[in-house]
Amino acid sequence: MTIAIVGAGLGGLALARVLHVNGMDSVVYERESSRGARGQGGMLDIHSGQRALREAGLIDGFYEIARGEGQDMRLLEPDGTLLLQEDTPDDAPLLRPEVDRADLRDLLLDSLPEGTVRWGHAFRSADDGRLHFADGGSAPYDLLVGADGAQSRVRPLLTDARPAHTGHNVVEVGIPDIDRTHPDLAAMVGRGTYWALGDGLSLAAQRNGDGRVRIGLGFYNTAEDWFATSGIPFDDPAAARARLIELLPGWDPRFTALIEACDDTIMPRSITTLPVGLTWPSMPDVTLVGDAAHLMPPVGEGANMALLDGALLGLALAAHPDDFPAAVEEYEREMFERAGAAARMSARMHELLASPDAAQKVLAFFQPG
Ligand SMILES: Cc1cc2nc3c(=O)[nH]c(=O)nc-3n(C[C@H](O)[C@H](O)[C@H](O)COP(=O)(O)OP(=O)(O)OC[C@H]3O[C@@H](n4cnc5c(N)ncnc54)[C@H](O)[C@@H]3O)c2cc1C
Repeated sequence: MTIAIVGAGLGGLALARVLHVNGMDSVVYERESSRGARGQGGMLDIHSGQRALREAGLIDGFYEIARGEGQDMRLLEPDGTLLLQEDTPDDAPLLRPEVDRADLRDLLLDSLPEGTVRWGHAFRSADDGRLHFADGGSAPYDLLVGADGAQSRVRPLLTDARPAHTGHNVVEVGIPDIDRTHPDLAAMVGRGTYWALGDGLSLAAQRNGDGRVRIGLGFYNTAEDWFATSGIPFDDPAAARARLIELLPGWDPRFTALIEACDDTIMPRSITTLPVGLTWPSMPDVTLVGDAAHLMPPVGEGANMALLDGALLGLALAAHPDDFPAAVEEYEREMFERAGAAARMSARMHELLASPDAAQKVLAFFQPG
């Protein structure tokens, strides 16, 4: 029985690894040409997903690459008022450590037998037990698992649902080697996440393992075509930084100093989600894991859910090696409930972040009562 996984992201790789430790083979088809073909982005905070890494036999390796101090948090209002500062003691448990996405993906990739991942295989369609790839090739499958992320091409085999814009647009910028280039700003941001929220805007600065501080500027309640109308000249980074500062009117000069210190990497990111609580009638030979199944606002759940999906589907298949349809149904029943709850929580957090007094609301969320 051939298990074909489309997508070598966190969900697909967690599935392949849990199958492997349970003595089952799979093949992962990935459209990228190699593991380093594309930058993997910044940090992820991994909490519930640690269970998946335990099932995958990789928890010790995870603790080696996890950054406990990345759990530090500073929450501020646009006028610079500090509302919350949490510094992680050295001996604190690693409940939500940060990890570099590329390191986590490497941990999973290195744990798989040679040849499990077939690079340069862009999935296009499936019929009669065969996958078809963009280069004209094809391969057989008994079970097809779509782990191909937000723009999944496997998803239409199960549901007509499509990601929709959330009214949230993000511009990503960053400061390289901040300790050396801007020690004053490095001290201000600290070791973890530095968040300024309010007026329907957010500035989230986060220290990465390589010394870069990534900064996401969020513009809430904005239209899908906002990047075209925002007046940000993405092809002229210096002018784009000046425009970004204009778009934060009245914000404390410490925040605008962060933007002034950024290099020329500037990336627009339009935030889309699938409907909260999405389900589909189970099919015996196709299912989805991760963002393909339940794309949520980026508030810290997506990677955890993807890891859990992969691990729990792997365990269900190992428990029913002769009955994949039963395994798929069992997995989907649990996944729909768990991912639905995470999507509801993420949608609520998105609403808080979009509100004019977001910092106070987020403070109340973290410190209820
Ligand atoms: C800025 C940002 C910050 C985030 N921070 C966090 C966080 O702190 N904590 C958290 O839990 N989540 C976070 N998330 C969400 C998290 O990154 C995703 O939910 C998670 O990566 C989903 O994993 P996945 O395996 O489903 O998909 P992906 O990681 O997107 O992997 C999909 C893979 O499929 C491949 N693929 C796509 N199409 C095809 C095709 N046709 N054929 C073959 N291969 C294909 C892609 O190349 C890719 O390798 C964040 C997201 C963003 C955007």
